[in-house]
Amino acid sequence: MLIAERVQKLSESATLAVGAKANALKASGKDVIAFGMGEPDFVTPEPIRRAAMAGLEKGLTHYAPTPGDKASREAIAAKLRTENGIACKPEHISVTAGAKHALYMTLQCLLDDKKGQEVILPTPAWVSYRPLIELAGGTCIEVPSTIESGFKITAEQLAAAITPRTVGVIINSPSNPCGVAYRPAEIEAFAAVLAKHPRVTVIADEIYEKLLYPEVEPGLAHRSLGSFAELAERTITINGMSKAFAMTGWRVGYVCAPGDNGRFAKELIKLQGQMTNGIATFIMPAIVEALTNGASDVERMRKVFASRAVLMHQRLSAIPRFRCVKPNSAFYSFPDVGQCLGLTTPGGRKIDTAQHFSEALLDEALVAVVPGEDFGACARTNVRLSFACSDENIVRGIDRIADWVARLR
Ligand code: PMP
Ligand code: GLU
Repeated sequence: MLIAERVQKLSESATLAVGAKANALKASGKDVIAFGMGEPDFVTPEPIRRAAMAGLEKGLTHYAPTPGDKASREAIAAKLRTENGIACKPEHISVTAGAKHALYMTLQCLLDDKKGQEVILPTPAWVSYRPLIELAGGTCIEVPSTIESGFKITAEQLAAAITPRTVGVIINSPSNPCGVAYRPAEIEAFAAVLAKHPRVTVIADEIYEKLLYPEVEPGLAHRSLGSFAELAERTITINGMSKAFAMTGWRVGYVCAPGDNGRFAKELIKLQGQMTNGIATFIMPAIVEALTNGASDVERMRKVFASRAVLMHQRLSAIPRFRCVKPNSAFYSFPDVGQCLGLTTPGGRKIDTAQHFSEALLDEALVAVVPGEDFGACARTNVRLSFACSDENIVRGIDRIADWVARLR
């Protein structure tokens, strides 16, 4: 069979691969503790589920407009205006099949093939950004951070990475996989740098915006790049329902592109019309319900994630061979396991990479983590653990890891 080279070259999503492997082992009866997949363990709040059921009962079973119905685009635009300070109208919004779809289309609309266009990506960064940039014909320019810098890049690093070929910058705060959010002053410093480069489109992936833990880092707050007047015209904000409302399986994301009188949004919706068209129509009322009445449920889940962040960090940072940054947001820890590499496991396997480490840990200790390699060149000795799981799983799982790591020779 003929298969296009660009698809053959595409790497499989490491997060989805670990999730699938852990699920297969569980299905075969193994007592696997899974820290792999980044998705809330909560069921979607009941009023949101009821809104979709009511939509189905009302017969909302025909095609919706490609970018979503009027009510859901209005609810999203109102949310972005009031909560994020982004000046936008419903026609600047498209509802997509997950934030991943929104990112895919944004990059397809931004980038031309074979023009040597660069997109800057602070790393460690989520596994899908690089493949999506490359699939659209762009070059991914990583700007690395370190454990010492708390997994944050500086405004100076950002400025130094911008070249005449730079067309885009992706800022994902709070970050997957770092579990770290920039403070408002740090976002302001990025905005000041980006203001000097009017050709650069800013892609702000704010999907974890609601999962911030000021109880861990006092003063922490979210600041949207799209709210700065000097960037408003060229910032594309990506968000979605998956994380804040525990709606990963619903596949609802959205993109907001107010610039140039909504020209980018129009082009993106044209692409979407040829690609997936609108999402399921009966889901539209659930979006409105979540965005207008869902705040107390979001806060209930946020508080639980905040306490798990503390527990996860306590346990992980007590493992002598691990080095960790304390998570202040999202639901990820991203320890450096470099001191374990070069050693031999209790089962007699030599572990030389984070990939080997993760495979051996799953096979021998039945704990699933995501190896760091696909999160960026600076993340090759890290592994990602999601703490979107029960306290009991965190305690049992980290005990297993600690015991296994102590037996490496
Ligand atoms: N952005 C980031 C940073 C993510 O971690 C994810 C993973 N859920 C997505 C986007 C995509 O989310 P979804 O497609 O589930 O809305
Ligand atoms: N974004 C989540 C993660 O990183 C879900 C899986 C994915 O889409 O990558 O685990």
